[in-house]
Amino acid sequence: MRLEAVLGDITKQDVDAIVNAANQGLAGGGGVDGAIHRAAGARDLQAACREIGGCATGDAVATPGFALRARWIIHAVGPRYRDGAHGEPELLASCYRRCLEVADELGAQSIAFPAISTGIYGYPQADAAHIAVHTLRAAPTSVALARLVAFDDNTLRLYEAELQS
Ligand code: ADP
Repeated sequence: MRLEAVLGDITKQDVDAIVNAANQGLAGGGGVDGAIHRAAGARDLQAACREIGGCATGDAVATPGFALRARWIIHAVGPRYRDGAHGEPELLASCYRRCLEVADELGAQSIAFPAISTGIYGYPQADAAHIAVHTLRAAPTSVALARLVAFDDNTLRLYEAELQS
């Protein structure tokens, strides 16, 4: 699998599946979740999420992409960061692995990830970038391209440093 990092808006990515940083209730929210709901069509996406009902922290579920370029949205629920000693690294790594597993089940060839948990959920950016890159590198998958989409320069720099290590 090719792994790359770009600066950009996840809703604009021309890939088979984009990942949403969702919450357990799949209830919609601010940040990247709000942007994805607006771009996909909030009414359709809310209805699809309501039908699924919810998702555990560390897990991921798929809906159609509706008005997005991406055919699917994979909703991953990252951990809220407390102090790093409450299973947060394992749960964040699990999100990345589960997204690839769901992508494989869908037959998606390309996937784009936001920096899960690093916004409202407060995960330290450098630690989250390390986990994202190392987990994706280690995961067995048929996905050909995984793109890490940074929404700010600092996150992009962190991804680039991890990709070079
Ligand atoms: P969480 O609740 O998992 O922390 P957030 O949506 O608050 O989720 O933030 C996750 C990351 O997504 C943050 O780094 C934020 O800057 C980024 N982000 C917000 N909007 C977008 C967007 N349109 N495209 C890509 N990343 C985004």
